Amino acid sequence: MTAVVDAVAAGAIGDRVWLYSNYHCNLACTYCLTESAPGVARRELGAERLLRAAEQAAGLGFGALGVTGGEPFLLAYLPETLARMADVLPVVALTNATYFSDERLERLSAFAGRPVSLQISLDAAEPDRNDLFRGPESFRRVVEAVPRIVARGIRVRIATTEPAALEPGAMERLCALHRELGVPDEDHVVRPVVRRGRASTNHLGVPVGMAELPPELTITAEGAFWSPFAATVHGRRLDTDLLVTRTTDPLRIPAEAMIRLSEGRPAGDDATLNIR
Ligand code: SF4
Repeated sequence: MTAVVDAVAAGAIGDRVWLYSNYHCNLACTYCLTESAPGVARRELGAERLLRAAEQAAGLGFGALGVTGGEPFLLAYLPETLARMADVLPVVALTNATYFSDERLERLSAFAGRPVSLQISLDAAEPDRNDLFRGPESFRRVVEAVPRIVARGIRVRIATTEPAALEPGAMERLCALHRELGVPDEDHVVRPVVRRGRASTNHLGVPVGMAELPPELTITAEGAFWSPFAATVHGRRLDTDLLVTRTTDPLRIPAEAMIRLSEGRPAGDDATLNIR
């Protein structure tokens, strides 16, 4: 057994390695942890680095991969890269699903028969409520895209971020909608807004630190972090309070640092906050 396998088995670190493929996005959500928007610094990892990290993660004994951003599917090479990564380890990719034209949906067929799932953001059953935080037309695009992705045999998880207390019945209506779109209850995750990035600027959500975040090795173009909630941006600068190492390649360096940092912490579960 490797040190990573031992640490995962002991519950000291999570078995998924997260990769920030990029930081730019076609949206600019009010509570975005990474201050993502169309014109921001891309901080892109690149296809070769994504693939190499996947192979290194598997070699170290990690069991799964997560790809997030920014909006990963703005990268033209992403569908094919995810498919190749999934030949190494199962992958979940996070997306706002507002950027899937017919041609882009067609390229998702590269996932057929491979362990790739998409986690798609949807905050409310009503367009006005959803788009208040995520921008105009987001709701319409998501509810159009989800059934088409499901129809391709790709597993979809719906991720709901709660910027504020929901009115009575709101969650029931949202659950009815995701079932109608073809996503079962076990693939619906709900988390609060984390007060970092733009959420911090807008005084939204709950503050978090190392104690509240399950340790999940997270790789960005500028370093390795404690959690996907840690590699955030505020004032256009990458936050470094939860930086683990600047070195990310080879992956062994930040993985060993994560294990050292997690020593003495109580055993935890897999990520409970679910990014986005
Ligand atoms: S929360 Fe997600 S979809 Fe919204 S701006 Fe940030 S990265 Fe883009």
